[in-house]
Amino acid sequence: MNPFPIENLPFGVFCPATGGDPRIGVAFGDGVLDVRAAVGAALFPGSAPTLAAALSAPVLNPLMALGRPAWREARGRIGEILLAGKAPLLPLRGVRMLLPATIGDYTDFYSSREHATNVGIMFRGVENALMPNWRWLPVGYHGRASSIVVSGTGFRRPSGQLCPDETLPPVFGPSRLLDFELEVGFFVGPGNPLGEPIPIERAEEHIFGLVLVNDWSARDIQKWEYQPLGPFLGKSFATSISPWVVPLDALEPFRCAGPVQEPEPLPYLRAPVPGAFDIELGVDLDAAGESGPVTVCRSNFRHLYWSMAQQIAHHTVNGCNLRPGDLLASGTISGPTPDSYGSLLEITWRGTKPIRLPSGAERKFLADGDRITMSGSCARDGLRLGFGEVTGRVLPAGADPAS
Ligand code: MN
Repeated sequence: MNPFPIENLPFGVFCPATGGDPRIGVAFGDGVLDVRAAVGAALFPGSAPTLAAALSAPVLNPLMALGRPAWREARGRIGEILLAGKAPLLPLRGVRMLLPATIGDYTDFYSSREHATNVGIMFRGVENALMPNWRWLPVGYHGRASSIVVSGTGFRRPSGQLCPDETLPPVFGPSRLLDFELEVGFFVGPGNPLGEPIPIERAEEHIFGLVLVNDWSARDIQKWEYQPLGPFLGKSFATSISPWVVPLDALEPFRCAGPVQEPEPLPYLRAPVPGAFDIELGVDLDAAGESGPVTVCRSNFRHLYWSMAQQIAHHTVNGCNLRPGDLLASGTISGPTPDSYGSLLEITWRGTKPIRLPSGAERKFLADGDRITMSGSCARDGLRLGFGEVTGRVLPAGADPAS
């Protein structure tokens, strides 16, 4: 199915195949509308100068800052332009996609109960799988914005300190336990002033749209470094996102109830409306040396225990300010069954249950040359739309800086 019907209209930033500077586009079918050119061709008559300027920018941040009424006006007008065939479309395959926004800050949550439970069992045992705070607040950490890359960008296997035997000193070298994390992230629209929390009732006004996120993780670097302050170099070497930002308005038909929350959250985390969305997710592994990809995970965004609105309310409750273009990601989205686990750490259960590939080879973690492709789509009552995909390939480690 084509992921970009008229009901979707995701925003992205692209350069035409023939060259030229970055500009905003909207995907429709197998084409891309050059939004800046459409503004230049006076196809947005009557729009406020601020909206016309935002739609002509080289990143989505100015549009994100304007808020939902402006987004709805833009979506409505773009839909009319497309249905009336008033502007030529560029072939989607020919354009070069860029990061959709200048991402000032990136926060990664840990909102899947199944994922947190699986990891907790592996590292702390069944008795202490979930930490005491987990059911009370959306656990998160501040990630690295500078290393977020758009789909299609390869990255080098990170090197760092590894300590496979903690009775011995650590060694330096390329990560041996390289993993993916299936996540969905959202871009912040209007921000909040420093010191002024966003109440949960208004949290969704601050969500511009959603993307797929692959939060690449080096489990061995992570394991040695993460206590007491949390993830650092095991995460900050690369994070991949899909290029098309699906507006929250387009996902409204797929809103649904999330898991029952027990105990009941504190009042500032109680949402007035259901905050989950039925988005089917998949992960394909195209392993080096194999003839094609195999699906290693099927999960769903609706499994998440903590909603996006709860993440925003919690993130800002201390007065922390969010800004347009900030990226907030869900954390690994694992479902209840082994075929729905969203990382190799869980799928292979720390390497004890390797994936058997068609050639007979095995994978516990990612090898050089392996490609991971994640996809997301929604279907209900004949309406289907999707995110496209986020893909990325593991390149060999660079030179050892110590040698
Ligand atoms: Mn993550």
